[in-house]
Amino acid sequence: MTKVIYPGQTIGIIGGGQLGRMMALAAKESGFKIAVLEPTMDSPCGQVADIRIVANYDDESALEELAEVSDVITFEFENIDYEGLKRLGQIANVPQGAELVRITQDRIIEKASLVEAGVEVSPYVVAQTYEELVERVATIGYPCVVKTARGGYDGKGQQTLYNEKDLIKAKPLFDHAACVAEAFVSFTKEISVIVQRSSNGDTYCQPIGENIHVNHILHETIVPARIEETTAQKAEQAAIQIANALQLVGTLAVEMFVLKDGGILINELAPRPHNSGHYSIEACNVSQFHQHIRAVCGWPLRKPELWAPSIMVNVLGQHVMPLTNAIAKYPHWSIHFYGKKEAKENRKMGHVTIMTENIDATLEEINASSIWSE
Ligand code: AMP
Repeated sequence: MTKVIYPGQTIGIIGGGQLGRMMALAAKESGFKIAVLEPTMDSPCGQVADIRIVANYDDESALEELAEVSDVITFEFENIDYEGLKRLGQIANVPQGAELVRITQDRIIEKASLVEAGVEVSPYVVAQTYEELVERVATIGYPCVVKTARGGYDGKGQQTLYNEKDLIKAKPLFDHAACVAEAFVSFTKEISVIVQRSSNGDTYCQPIGENIHVNHILHETIVPARIEETTAQKAEQAAIQIANALQLVGTLAVEMFVLKDGGILINELAPRPHNSGHYSIEACNVSQFHQHIRAVCGWPLRKPELWAPSIMVNVLGQHVMPLTNAIAKYPHWSIHFYGKKEAKENRKMGHVTIMTENIDATLEEINASSIWSE
């Protein structure tokens, strides 16, 4: 059973990025205090936290300090030190545990866990070395996507191979880690299901988002996803099946491919609130961040309901100026900035959520704004 945490008590967050910030803002609405562990001084989460511990995520004494000041500890990203998180669980209240972090840090372990949970993934092979890839790739054939087992994100650490001649392009990926190679999926859509579960087994999915990527980075999420009802049911069932199999406490984002026949394949997992769930701040009765806080604080979960169809658009560094100049033109847009100082190209600086009764007209409005044309 997760210990119940009450307003006035302190939630510790490992990681000071925008996900931590939005968790903190949700928690503060209920009167919790926030402590954050983050190596940079002026982080998105640090700006809204009560206590800032400025140190590396694997710094033992900093983790001990976080344990001392926090009544419960959560995290906003999965690339934290697994052993450190496990040790933290012995001296502090970490209801999510460390197991999901171990699994999702490594695509090889993640894929095996998904198969064990009984859900479908694209056919794949594991290759510890480039030579193993050359040997094994025939099992899945071309085209295929080679991904480093550890440390890749937003399309980094990935290479699509169209034929044998391309094989050599995957060689550098093995400099860092083992890889998985998976059959290329000619999906019709990408969707994500954010499933949230409490320690007593209450489980709810946020409305399903349809994700559109540009240059491997999430660009837009359209909610509800424009998919058949039967596909939506399969997607939710799969997410719940994974959540139960992995004994989830907190939040798990499940990214999926939708196939032509309406079937689904699971692509990957993230054990935290997800970029594709940001729309829920305005568009749901309980946002992914509120629900996450409820789950880790031992509060009962609420059944998410969508107030209105919505589109979330990410604001990257190159979109900051055009958006800022257009604020006056779009009073119905909910504009979020994460407080990052430097608007570097492709850096996630904020997002916009637009609730709408007409998705097509709003997509057109987003296009016509020219903010995202670069
Ligand atoms: P990932 O880092 O695994 O989420 O992959 C990033 C993006 O690459 C996905 O959102 C897809 O657009 C694309 N992708 C990844 N794996 C495959 C695949 N097996 N087949 C087709 N596209 C893929």
